[in-house]
Amino acid sequence: MNMCNSEKKKKVIIIGGGLSGLSASCYLAEKNYDVTIIDKNESVGGRLTSFKKEGFTFDLGPTWYWMPDVFDNFFKDFNKNTSDYYKLTRLEPSYKFFANESQYDISTNKNDLEDMFESIEPGSSKRMKKFMKEAELKYKISMDHFIDKPNLSIKEYFSFSMIRYFFSLDILKSLRNHISSFFKSKIIKDMLEFPSMFLGGTPSNTPALYSLMNYADIVGGTWYPNGGMVEVSNGFGKLSKELGVKHILNEEVSSFKIKENNIEEIKSKNGNSYKADYIICSAEYPFVQMNLLDKKHRTYKASYWSKRNIAPSALIFYLGLSEKVQNIDHHNLFFDRDFDSHLNDIFEKNIWPKEPLFYMCCPSKTDQSVVPNTSMENIFILIPIASDSHDSKDVRNKYLEDVLSRIESVTNQNIKDKIIVEESFCVNDFKDRYNAYKGNAYGLANTLFQTAVFKPKMKDKKINNLYYSGHFTVPGPGLPPAVISGKIAAKQIMKDS
Ligand SMILES: Cc1cc2nc3c(=O)[nH]c(=O)nc-3n(C[C@H](O)[C@H](O)[C@H](O)COP(=O)(O)OP(=O)(O)OC[C@H]3O[C@@H](n4cnc5c(N)ncnc54)[C@H](O)[C@@H]3O)c2cc1C
Repeated sequence: MNMCNSEKKKKVIIIGGGLSGLSASCYLAEKNYDVTIIDKNESVGGRLTSFKKEGFTFDLGPTWYWMPDVFDNFFKDFNKNTSDYYKLTRLEPSYKFFANESQYDISTNKNDLEDMFESIEPGSSKRMKKFMKEAELKYKISMDHFIDKPNLSIKEYFSFSMIRYFFSLDILKSLRNHISSFFKSKIIKDMLEFPSMFLGGTPSNTPALYSLMNYADIVGGTWYPNGGMVEVSNGFGKLSKELGVKHILNEEVSSFKIKENNIEEIKSKNGNSYKADYIICSAEYPFVQMNLLDKKHRTYKASYWSKRNIAPSALIFYLGLSEKVQNIDHHNLFFDRDFDSHLNDIFEKNIWPKEPLFYMCCPSKTDQSVVPNTSMENIFILIPIASDSHDSKDVRNKYLEDVLSRIESVTNQNIKDKIIVEESFCVNDFKDRYNAYKGNAYGLANTLFQTAVFKPKMKDKKINNLYYSGHFTVPGPGLPPAVISGKIAAKQIMKDS
C-alpha cells in the first residue's frame, strides 16, 4: 500500500532501534508512514554496536557476518546496494578451528576444504558434498518460501507445494542425528554442530532444518564489513534517516496507556509521552509483556516465558594488546574441550561451564582501523554461559585467567602482560543495557517447538495496534533474521492498515 500525499500519514513508533527495528522503519518510511524510533541507549543498532577505548574500536556483540544475500536483498528493496553503505571483505580462511590437539583452517577454497575433511575422516569429502547439497536445498526452500511468513496461523502452510517442501526440510529430525548420519569423526561433527549455538540451542534440540546454516557458513562464507560490524547498523541507521525516520535516543519506554485494546499513549522514564497509530516493539518480547503491559493485557505470562528454551547468555572480554598474537586468525573457535560437557553445564545444569569452549575474534588481523597502532591487536573473547548465571567480578576474572592461559599455550606467546585495555560484558550488562530476559544474548532458541508458528506471535493477540520484531519472534535469532523480522512486521502493518 502506498499512501497518497493528501491522505494523513499513519504514525508508527518503533520501540527499540535494534537491527529489526531499523529494518522495519525503512520499509514503513518508504511507504510514506510517519516513523519514529525510540531507543533507551545512546545509539541505534541494539546489540549490533561498538565502543571505543584508548584508540581501540571494539564491536560490542555480533562479529560474524553470514548470509550476505539477506543484507543485499534488504538494500535492493530500496534500490540501493550494500556497498553504498559499507564495504565487505570475504575472509580467507573463514575461521580457524582448534580441536584437542590439532587445528584446522575452514578455507573458502573447495579443494583445500575437501583435503582437510579427508585428512580428518577418509571418505568424508564425498559425503560432505551430499550433505551440502541437502543443506543448500533447505536454505533455498526456506529463503524462497518460508522465512518471510508472519506465522500468525498454521493456515499459511496449507497448500500442496508447502506440504511438499516441508518434507524436504527435515524438521522432525535433530541436527545432531542428521550430522551423525553422514560423519563419524568427532571433530567434523563439532565443526558442523557449532552453528546451533548461534540459534540459541543445542545440536540435539535444534531441528536438522538448520543444517542450512552449514551451507550459509561453508558456501556462503564469512564476511567482514570494513571498519567493524558496527558499520552495518550505521548503514541501516543512515538509510532509515534518508527515508525520513526520526531517531529519539536515550529515551526508555516505561509504560503504555491502553484504551479499548489499543495503545493510546506511550510513556517514557523521562516523563515524555507519544502517540501513534501502530507500535512495533523490537525491545525484547518478554520485557514488553511483563514490564510495559499490565497483567490483563498480557498474552504470555511469566510462567510461559519461564518454560521456554532461552538462548544462552555470554561472558565477553574486549582486550587491547600492545603486540600482535601469532597463530590465530580473524575468527577462532576453541573446541579444545568437550562440547557436550559445556552444553550440559549451561543448558541442563544451569551452571558456569567447568571446562568452557570459547570463541576468539581478532578483527585487527583484517582491519587496522580498529587498533591505535598497526603493531597492536584487538581481541574479543566470548564464552557461552547459561542465561541468568550469577555474574560477579570474581567469576569474570577467573574465566579470563583460564582462557588466556589456554590461548597462551596454543599461541606459545605471553598475552597477559601485553594487555593495555580490558573490558568485559556479561549477564548483568545484558539486563541493564537491553532489558534482556534472564540476561540472554540471542533471544529465544530455535528448537522444534519454538520455530515458525510456535514462536510468540509477531502481532499481539490482545492489543490491536501492537506488533513485535526481533529475536523472540519470527524468524529467530541472528542478524539476518532480524533484518527479515523487521520486514515481516512492517508488511503486516501495511496489510492491516
Ligand atoms: C554477544 C552477541 C554476539 C552475537 N553474535 C552474532 C553474530 O556474530 N552474528 C549474528 O548474525 N548475530 C549475532 N548475535 C545476535 C544478534 O546480535 C541479534 O540477534 C540481533 O542483533 C537482534 O536484533 P533485535 O532487533 O532483535 O534486538 P536488539 O538488537 O536487542 O535491539 C533491541 C533494542 O531495544 C532497545 N530497548 C530495550 N528496551 C527498551 C525500552 N524500554 N525503551 C526503548 N528502547 C528499548 C534496546 O536498547 C535495543 O537497542 C549476537 C548477539 C550477541 C548478544
